[in-house]
Amino acid sequence: MFLDTFSKWTLCRGCLRPMSGTAEAGLCGSCWDGLWPLPEKRCPQCALTHDEERPCPDIVAWEHGDALWNYRGGRPALGSLLVHGIKAGETGWRRALLKRAASTELPVWAGEVDLVTSAPPSPMSKWRRGFDLAEEAARLISDKLNRPYIRTLNRVWLSSRQAKLTESQRRKMSPKNIRTRRDVNVYEKVILLVDDVWTTGTTLLRCAQSLRKSGATEIKVLTLFRVL
Ligand SMILES: [Zn+2]
Ligand SMILES: [Zn+2]
Repeated sequence: MFLDTFSKWTLCRGCLRPMSGTAEAGLCGSCWDGLWPLPEKRCPQCALTHDEERPCPDIVAWEHGDALWNYRGGRPALGSLLVHGIKAGETGWRRALLKRAASTELPVWAGEVDLVTSAPPSPMSKWRRGFDLAEEAARLISDKLNRPYIRTLNRVWLSSRQAKLTESQRRKMSPKNIRTRRDVNVYEKVILLVDDVWTTGTTLLRCAQSLRKSGATEIKVLTLFRVL
């Protein structure tokens, strides 16, 4: 009984080994070291490594795209551990992660923008979690760059017919429902678009398309994590 209680407080919640190094929020120092930067010589648009001679195989609608960390960095992979935990309400992990984002160097081009914005969450997920990791990251980056944060994008509410779809069906269709808000002006603006995790880039692409359609001159993309 005593041992159970004791081990619960001394084992790392990531690797389940005894706590060591500069532990924070229940994760040991070596787990936190799993915030790996992306590989050098990555493509400046898709942030993946591919043959430089050939055009970017990924669908990208921007000249500059990058992420702070490799989603699968560390053992266990810290990005997926953190993001899933944070989405389930792990406020300690969220705070510790944002603190690290605040002290990470950003690409030079990220500062050459008029405003910072974020990919919109689905209405359901924000309601369930009460916060939006992409927006929190974007606000932090906007402070760091000394550029305004503006919420420019919305997801269109589902019709009652769409609301009956299952979550996975909805997730497949939701990117198409991203729209630029009518009450913001993005005309002739250079915009830094921020999201938490960049996987296929479909959501980012829909966001960029909508902003461009509303007159934005250029979109740059920066995310916390990139799935390689
Ligand atoms: Zn650990
Ligand atoms: Zn590329």
